[in-house]
Amino acid sequence: MTEPRAANPLFLPKSRLDDLIGQLAAAGFEVVGPRLEQQAIVYGPIRSASDLPIGWTDLQGPGSYRLQRRGDEAYFGYVVGPHSWKKYLFPPTLTLWHARRTGDTFTIEESNDEPPRRALLGVRGCELHAIAVQDRVFLNRAGQFTDPFYAKARQRLFLIAVECETAGGTCFCTSMGTGPQIDDPLDAHSAPRRGRHAYDLALTELDDGFVVRVGSAAGQDLVARLGLAAAAPEQIAEGRRRVAAAAQAMGRWLDTTDLRQLLHRNQEHPRWDAVADRCLSCTNCTMVCPTCFCSSVADVTDLSLENAQRVRKWDSCFNPEFAKVHGGDFRPSIRARYRQWLTHKFASWYDQFDVSGCVGCGRCITWCPVGIDVTEEINAIRAADGQRRLD
Ligand code: SF4
Ligand code: SF4
Repeated sequence: MTEPRAANPLFLPKSRLDDLIGQLAAAGFEVVGPRLEQQAIVYGPIRSASDLPIGWTDLQGPGSYRLQRRGDEAYFGYVVGPHSWKKYLFPPTLTLWHARRTGDTFTIEESNDEPPRRALLGVRGCELHAIAVQDRVFLNRAGQFTDPFYAKARQRLFLIAVECETAGGTCFCTSMGTGPQIDDPLDAHSAPRRGRHAYDLALTELDDGFVVRVGSAAGQDLVARLGLAAAAPEQIAEGRRRVAAAAQAMGRWLDTTDLRQLLHRNQEHPRWDAVADRCLSCTNCTMVCPTCFCSSVADVTDLSLENAQRVRKWDSCFNPEFAKVHGGDFRPSIRARYRQWLTHKFASWYDQFDVSGCVGCGRCITWCPVGIDVTEEINAIRAADGQRRLD
């Protein structure tokens, strides 16, 4: 299918967002997006616009998250919550295969877990980049290490991105070059650090509707069915102004100059001991991170011993069992685990995948129970570059 040429933006009145959701449902997509649940904004099924967290925002800081009324009726007036979209592409638990005993032998049946066609509504700029980072992990370009579930789920996605107009207290997407604006995938000059990042539609919210940009042939088909009018120049300008204001209000800043080399040459910095004194090794940061991809497998047998299954589950480099191998544990201390995690995200990820493992979403800062802040840790190492612990 040929990709469409960049077209002029269109305008979708808020009263017609349900038409868009209805068209996606009619085309066989399960629409998922932000919902208010468990006193947080999380991702789940969206049947109509009334399921969205209309009029709510999230106040975030290190180890702190609160919902608050905004005083307007914004549909996407929050930042990001504890969920990331990775749960739909790389599920927390996945059965890989079943085994059934038949007499003295057994047969293995492949799992028939089939990902549905899904439309993700409300994907932020940093989250589009996070999906692109996980693509590099799970869709190996040479085709040698492609994860079959991820590949199917990814191929069935319809992505509706929404630009951020509110900056979170823990966000630093501007430092990582991932937001809050959403780069036009048809503009080769607009995504300087990470190449192109595809979306099907990109929305910018105004008071009465959305400026809509089309990023794919599937997106073009959908807007053609909706029969949308062109956005007025002043609507486009107002959208740009709002996103630029969010960039100015960013909660945090990280100097990324020479970051890979900075972390590699500071493996014995005393800051690793200081952070280890605070870190609980609870794994929260890795569970909420949209790019973390570690998993482990376990075989589970039922009580009759007739049936077994192999299950893959999210794992974390903070788990005490993670680095245990025959003969010992190669990361027995919290210092070693924290250093591994941070250095992998911001340094050795480049060596493996030619991209940063961090997109600046701020989740690990917000959801760390003791408020450890990756930007603060890196800034402290930079401030005393070359310092070594005293053994
Ligand atoms: S390391 Fe933290 S800020 Fe970076 S992508 Fe992961 S959760 Fe977001
Ligand atoms: S850095 Fe925070 S969230 Fe991560 S393991 Fe340590 S205490 Fe838990």
